[in-house]
Amino acid sequence: MRIALAGNPNSGKTTLFNSLTGNNQHIGNWPGVTVEKKEGQLRTDKSITIIDLPGIYSLSPYSLEEVISRDYIVNENPDIVVNIVDGSNLERNLYLTTQLIETGVPVVIAINMMDVIAKNKDVIRSNQIAKMLNCPVVEITALKSQGFDELIEKSKELYAEKKKYRPVLWYSEPIEKMISKISEVIKEKVDSQKIRWFAIKVFERDEKVLEDLSINKADLETIFSEITEYEKELDDDSESLVTRERYAFISRFVDRVYIKNKIKAQNISSKIDKILTNKYLGLPIFVVIIFLVYYLSITTVGGIMTDFVNDVVFGSGGIPDLVRGLLESINTWPWLIGAIVDGAISGVGAVLGFLPQMFMLFLLLGILEESGYMARIAFILDRIFRRFGLSGKAFFPMLISTGCAVPGVMAARTIEEENNRKMMIMTTTFMPCGAKLPIIALIAGAMFRGSSIQWLIAPSAYLLGILMIIISSIILKKFKGFAGKAAPFIMELPDYHLPRVKGLAFLVYNKLKSFVKKAGTIILLASVIVWFLSSFSWSFVLLDSPETSILASIGKTIDFMFTPLGWGDWKATVATFTGLIAKENVVGTFGVLYGFAEVSESGAEIWSLLSVDFSPLSAYSFLVFNLICAPCFAAIGAIKREMGNRRWTFYAVGFQTLLAYVLALIIYRVGLIFTGIFNVWSIIGILALMILSYLIFRPNPYLKNFDN
Ligand code: GDP
Ligand code: MG
Repeated sequence: MRIALAGNPNSGKTTLFNSLTGNNQHIGNWPGVTVEKKEGQLRTDKSITIIDLPGIYSLSPYSLEEVISRDYIVNENPDIVVNIVDGSNLERNLYLTTQLIETGVPVVIAINMMDVIAKNKDVIRSNQIAKMLNCPVVEITALKSQGFDELIEKSKELYAEKKKYRPVLWYSEPIEKMISKISEVIKEKVDSQKIRWFAIKVFERDEKVLEDLSINKADLETIFSEITEYEKELDDDSESLVTRERYAFISRFVDRVYIKNKIKAQNISSKIDKILTNKYLGLPIFVVIIFLVYYLSITTVGGIMTDFVNDVVFGSGGIPDLVRGLLESINTWPWLIGAIVDGAISGVGAVLGFLPQMFMLFLLLGILEESGYMARIAFILDRIFRRFGLSGKAFFPMLISTGCAVPGVMAARTIEEENNRKMMIMTTTFMPCGAKLPIIALIAGAMFRGSSIQWLIAPSAYLLGILMIIISSIILKKFKGFAGKAAPFIMELPDYHLPRVKGLAFLVYNKLKSFVKKAGTIILLASVIVWFLSSFSWSFVLLDSPETSILASIGKTIDFMFTPLGWGDWKATVATFTGLIAKENVVGTFGVLYGFAEVSESGAEIWSLLSVDFSPLSAYSFLVFNLICAPCFAAIGAIKREMGNRRWTFYAVGFQTLLAYVLALIIYRVGLIFTGIFNVWSIIGILALMILSYLIFRPNPYLKNFDN
């Protein structure tokens, strides 16, 4: 027996699924966490399979989650659909219920969050809901595993009963007439239990259903012309008409089955939201909060901890010295000492040195996420995003990308419109992921130490990411492939709550674990390779300085590419390329090439050597290029999987790299003008700025499609 769990996002499906199956799926409070369906066996009876479907608000074919859930329910015929309903949001949740029942699959309604209902002293009359919707209704509290036995019992009963489908929701007469007519036409093509559902979908002009049914042309034309006539008469499209009647059906009885406790005080969350999501204050508050997060984690608290690690653990008398001494005392070959101390330890140490900052950042972002604040940002950004055809939903891939771009790119699946989804896949990697953090911290710490704008550098990286996504959307929306407006954005905001220590610890631990693991594998290997290539000449002589090494000669033949950006130095060029393997490599490579371990022995300021090759301006240009350009190979792989073809992957990576180049060029060349240097390159920089501005501000040729 197969039981599928269907319901709105945040209704508690995954919580229920985990306790029923003993599985441990991630529970998150925004869409996109469960994009794929998950299967597991019921703990107490292995013959029952439970399927956790992605959260959905309706069975329309607009988002990937809806398509996955709907295909499963309609085509794979689960024996029972358990519809999880968030009891504290009954009206909105029942909208999906009416559609699930319409599919003809036996439905058991599980009203969840009964603990919340009880706490609020509200009353839900389950018996009446069962009568109205003609299906079993069970009250549960997924969080405390209450009501599960009855839920399974009722499901088994319904399964044994093999009840025939009987409609519970009748539409107005003209629609019912159309449904009968369409049913006549399609009755040979579909399962008898499902005729009504398919007929309603045809009436809604559901493209996927029309495609699947392949109704003959003549019939289709008759049907459509009648629908059109009806639409004209009522001045609305058929899909909206059906939607409206469904809501009307629910609102007719919801007041009778859900009795709200009147004296309940206005809840704290909505009071907080009055300020935090305020139309005017919301965005400035968000900017201030993000500034604080990055400032605290990178510049102050995290910075102090990182300095400690760099000076004490990896500084003079620290690990590099100890290991070198040990290896020398047992007379190891010099090249092996070099590979271990100046290669592996320098590279990995340079990266691990930033662990404290990463810890602070993930902790603070985790607190914002756990408390429920991050979900609000989507709302705040929705107002801005909507102006150029993106919805606030795009914030979720962005948010996830601040951890790692791979799941971030995948989370773009929650975006309904294909063109917007593609656009998010192309741009979400602009957000500074965890691996880019060491680069940001390095540049902020080494090149802007003591500068009056040091505190701005790290937050600017985050805000630049968001800004570039917005700017890219504005530019791309003016091209044919991307024009179009965003689907309406409905999302229920979770209540604010104090972050749970356990959840927070789990979140931070997981992110740091993968970072450390990467340092011990990919970064280690890359550092050793970089060391070899930078320590030997083409004739395999061990060198004292890397300037005549294999790597230098390769770097020097291609570093002209970055000269216009102000950092056409072979070390920076090599670092940028190793960054494609993993972004931490940028710092790891610097660690090896600038002799992190050696410098530490002399006790000098470890990173001060960078200023030989960089000025603050060229360092910032370097930072911006590395943040925006092609992401690491893992993320490019994710882009390819999500785009589904090579051409679009190529476009995406090309766009990212081109934008990064132009941006870094403008920053460096126009920036130089302010220091009094003006030459041919300044003119090229200004021209680039003008072209970019033109692409942003030119009128939108597709504005027409945009408005209707
Ligand atoms: P899904 O999106 O439907 O998979 O929902 P989740 O299982 O991820 O749950 C969403 C949120 O609701 C989580 O924070 C859960 O802890 C919470 N939750 C789930 N079931 C209950 C419940 O019975 N009572 C309360 N108070 N919270 C619940
Ligand atoms: Mg879930």
